[in-house]
Amino acid sequence: MRLPAGVSADVFNKALRAFAQALGDDWVYSKEDDVALYDDSYTPFVNEPDKQFRASAAVAPDTVEQVQQVVRIANQYRIPLYPISTGRNLGYGGSSPTYSGCVIVDLKRMNRVLEVNEREGYMIVEPGVSFLTLQRYFDEHQVPFLVSTPDPGWGSPVGNALDHGISYQAGDNFGMVHGLEVVLADGDVLRTGMGGTANSRMWANYRYGFGPVVNGIFSQSNFGIVTKAVFWLVRKPEMEQSFTATSFSHDDFEPMIDAMQKMREANLVYSSGVGSSIRESMATNDGRQPTGVPEVNALLKQPDGGTFAEWEALARRVNIPTVRVTASARGPKAVVEATIEHAREIYGAMPGVTLTLGAPVGFTGNNYPLRPRIEFGELGAQQTSRGHYYFSPVFKPTVEDLFAINDVIRRVMLEAGDTEMLESFGWSAGWTLAYPKACMILIEFLIFDDTEKNRRRRQLFLNLVQACGAKGWAEYRAPVAFQSEIIKQYNFNDHVLRRFNESIKDAIDPNGILAPGKSGIWPKHLRGAST
Ligand code: ADP
Repeated sequence: MRLPAGVSADVFNKALRAFAQALGDDWVYSKEDDVALYDDSYTPFVNEPDKQFRASAAVAPDTVEQVQQVVRIANQYRIPLYPISTGRNLGYGGSSPTYSGCVIVDLKRMNRVLEVNEREGYMIVEPGVSFLTLQRYFDEHQVPFLVSTPDPGWGSPVGNALDHGISYQAGDNFGMVHGLEVVLADGDVLRTGMGGTANSRMWANYRYGFGPVVNGIFSQSNFGIVTKAVFWLVRKPEMEQSFTATSFSHDDFEPMIDAMQKMREANLVYSSGVGSSIRESMATNDGRQPTGVPEVNALLKQPDGGTFAEWEALARRVNIPTVRVTASARGPKAVVEATIEHAREIYGAMPGVTLTLGAPVGFTGNNYPLRPRIEFGELGAQQTSRGHYYFSPVFKPTVEDLFAINDVIRRVMLEAGDTEMLESFGWSAGWTLAYPKACMILIEFLIFDDTEKNRRRRQLFLNLVQACGAKGWAEYRAPVAFQSEIIKQYNFNDHVLRRFNESIKDAIDPNGILAPGKSGIWPKHLRGAST
């Protein structure tokens, strides 16, 4: 049996018996085979078992009271816990903990949709509700909202939002969270915002309540176990239509982006993206097929990455545009059409810029696009891979930042001599799905059976984290294995942010039982152990 560090077999068995008394024997898993199910199937340390993060046991409470009991028992016996909603935060982690020996608190049984308020447009759900089950519920009850899912839909609205996940429907999923119920490390139950009043009438309607806004400190943290969340919902629009503006000249890029960002500011479009079609044209990220223009890779491998003139000449020759912006309008048909007309006017006034419209998408019935899927598009395409993890820095949606960050990434890959990585991901578009003023690049680090290659890729990942971090483009989210590295990039004023988080941790979880090391926040007794 795997034991949490510093806990004897005798004490651990006592804790397991106490868990079983609280939850019933069926809901405490300590047999090797059962616990192994919580290993991360997509660990970056495949074939390197000594480096993997593994649980000692798992418990599956069914009620808030049982979660409270679990936390109290853990305090009594000093057992580290690791809560998961569905444990499918794919690309950033599975169900395995940040610290080996944790007991997983698997919230899968707490899978109730507690309220869907159609008139006011919100829902209250438990953490075990997955995107797929929520969609089933919406279909069955003819609920007129979109499920705000990432790709794919095995995970949960709660787990995804708490990790600042992104979707095609709402974009910023944590932004849609307007209230949380949290079991604290001492077993107390807290409701945030107006949930602080005894009857919680306004809990779903006004997130601030009175006083400091604390929802945020329970996201990407280890300060509590969330047992309910209030989400505002995205009502099914009448239609949606995307549009893309392209040009063969770099000179057009700045006005193209500025126009897009102004539309975003005015809430005319709900998402936007910026890219260089020719530079991305040989990449295989997102399951894309390379275009078969080998000169692209030759230019990317040049020390300077190719001049603007070289790229423009190539782009014209193979008829793939140099630069691109894209966005989607969503809402009543008349409003979407007017937005498209507005885009036509703006981009039509830019000589050399071409506007292309996507097909209009309707949302009637139960068979519309943008529903939770069971697969990753790109994983299907990357047959040789054992899954992936993401490198995801944040930067400005400007010409300068897009080119500068891509140049840093390209140079780091070039220095590492990783031609395969350079050819697949040497130049990436930026997306502002979640946040209008912040672009994200998602670079997939594929995992292979080849241990040495995995090791080199992990090192490349860390080199990228450091090179981008030094420029102020730190990550917004990271796989479990790298979280302590990511927080090092947040180094203003001698890492005051991390020190502040540690002060909170020490105050509210003095025994350090909740998710040690999550987001690089270690309890006092483990500080320095893994950093
Ligand atoms: P998903 O439900 O999308 O599969 P996970 O269960 O993998 O997400 O959780 C993503 C991250 O959020 C993990 O680090 C996990 O520890 C944390 N987390 C998930 N659910 C909760 C919860 N109910 N309370 C506190 N932290 C949670």
